Amino acid sequence: MKHASTDIDIVKSTTSKLDSVDFENLKFGHVFTDHMMECDYEDGAWKTPVIKPYGKIELEPSAKVFHYGQAVFEGMKAFRDDNDKIWLFRPDENFKRINLSSKRLAIPEFPEEYFFQGLEELLKIDKEWIKKGFGNSLYIRPFVIATEPGVLASPGASYKFMIICSPAKSYYTGEVRVQISEKYSRAADGGVGAAKAAGNYGAQFYPTNLAKEAGFQQIIWTDANSHEFLEEAGTMNVFFRVNDTLLTAPVNDRILDGVTRKSILSLAEANSIKAEVRRVSVKEIIEAAKNGSLKEIFGAGTAAVINPIQGFGYKGERYELPKITDSYASFFKDKLMKIQYNLAEDEFGWRYEV
Ligand code: PMP
Repeated sequence: MKHASTDIDIVKSTTSKLDSVDFENLKFGHVFTDHMMECDYEDGAWKTPVIKPYGKIELEPSAKVFHYGQAVFEGMKAFRDDNDKIWLFRPDENFKRINLSSKRLAIPEFPEEYFFQGLEELLKIDKEWIKKGFGNSLYIRPFVIATEPGVLASPGASYKFMIICSPAKSYYTGEVRVQISEKYSRAADGGVGAAKAAGNYGAQFYPTNLAKEAGFQQIIWTDANSHEFLEEAGTMNVFFRVNDTLLTAPVNDRILDGVTRKSILSLAEANSIKAEVRRVSVKEIIEAAKNGSLKEIFGAGTAAVINPIQGFGYKGERYELPKITDSYASFFKDKLMKIQYNLAEDEFGWRYEV
């Protein structure tokens, strides 16, 4: 699927930071490529997108994003295959999701042709930042902010859509143990949990810090009403393997509809792995941990792809998972990454060539 061509203004950088970057030792999300895309919404319309050198933007201190948090974002990746072709993974899903997020935050939706044309042009211009090799990628961060000055609590009349990109290596997160939240929640019914709203993330830092102080790396969020059901792990969807069955919560207005999550469910079906999409209770997972039927827990998301979880804590008790060799986590990670890097057949049509 290609998108209709549109006019984009391009201002190329006269210098490049490429040679100053140590691609072997990248800290995630720290270094940005030479260019960025910017598109302003004014007088009821999105103006012509511009690709220009990555750099500072100027906003008034009264810009609504600073006061009312009208900000949404996306996270996606580009990959370079052995023949130097550049691929995106299911970018249509990210496009749909940023507009769902925008809608929830009363931000005007962004046009599809601007999104795809702008993204493709940007990737072509900064192609040298996408390195070959399994695990290397370019993390892409589209976002929208309300730029209209004024401290009246109402939706902005002007916005800025931007895309910035950061080279990434596959990262090994070390052993991850999570605390099941007894008090804090990341989302509530009727709230903004299903949106990638910036405020969702800011609100997670404090409870996550508390979990870290208690010796865990992350939190598993439980539902806001009863704290009896497991919803997401940090900023990832979460899967449990009990015996040979995969369990994950259904998406709703509290849970982000993750691209990795839905891809895992499709792969499970295609590979005859039983998956149940239903509410997963803390109680059943603790029982399964005690009787040995809980084989795995893993988080799923674009940045880490799959993040195995070795243990968890709940109400002062700690539980360790068995070490297994033939894990679902590594099975799905390998399947997904081979599709992303054009090393396996794309039976679902998920790859998108730039
Ligand atoms: N849940 C949350 C809260 C997230 O921020 C993310 C990352 N976008 C995910 C789940 C995973 O989504 P995806 O697989 O689309 O990256």
